[in-house]
Amino acid sequence: MIIDTHVHIGGEAVGFHMNEDMVLEAMDKYGIDFSVVSNSDAGEVDHQQKLLPKELQVSQEDALRRAIRFARKHPKRIGVAPWIKPLTQGITKELEDLISDNKDIICALKVHPYHSHIQPTDERVLPYIELAEKYDLPVISHTGHDEDDSPVHLYEAAKLFPKVSFVMVHMGLGTDNREALELLGKADNLYGDTTWVPMGTTIEAVERYGSKRIFFGSDMPIDGVDTYGHNPRGERSLYQDYFHELPKRISREAYEDIMYKNALRVFHLKDRID
Ligand SMILES: [Zn+2]
Repeated sequence: MIIDTHVHIGGEAVGFHMNEDMVLEAMDKYGIDFSVVSNSDAGEVDHQQKLLPKELQVSQEDALRRAIRFARKHPKRIGVAPWIKPLTQGITKELEDLISDNKDIICALKVHPYHSHIQPTDERVLPYIELAEKYDLPVISHTGHDEDDSPVHLYEAAKLFPKVSFVMVHMGLGTDNREALELLGKADNLYGDTTWVPMGTTIEAVERYGSKRIFFGSDMPIDGVDTYGHNPRGERSLYQDYFHELPKRISREAYEDIMYKNALRVFHLKDRID
């Protein structure tokens, strides 16, 4: 079984082309059993960190409704991670109602410190983390190498909320992953994922901390339906390593933890997937 904990739809306003049909097609083609989907329509700033104009802003509630519609059609294959808008919106009753009414298909909360231009420990984000705690949802957060999205801020959030699980998506995108690897050893409720993370980093994480701390994730379909296979220029995807090389490099038990068992446990998916 494979569970991909980091899959997207939406995001046209910030230049992505990702939709429901692409997700399903890729899952069929590459043998992915379940995907945790967040809707990038809720991005708040563009790749230059500039606030998107009002006409391109989609509310966090509308973005969530689209993801919910998708998951409702495929409840055994698709789970939802609401993508929050702490910069331009804040928590609304409507958002909380959507989460509580759809708790059966919602399995995480998505924070994007880069596309929201905000740190995970900012006082505008903390109420969302309290909401995640209330509904027993892990917090999955993009991490990179800028002021807002540096992994250390997610570590700080993990220290503030010891009962909430936090996932450092990308283990610090655009870095050598060293900082994220060190931080994994400093908070038991801090996790990493494999999204654009070289296999060597994942193997080192397993050697240092065991196999319970990393989830398989990919950003699919950010490079198209063949994100798992190759990019639009035809260059082999690093996820091929995860599918074909990693099983030879770590124990079967550790491999199963990373590819689905950790997600079953932390994203509370055991009852969802037959
Ligand atoms: Zn992503």
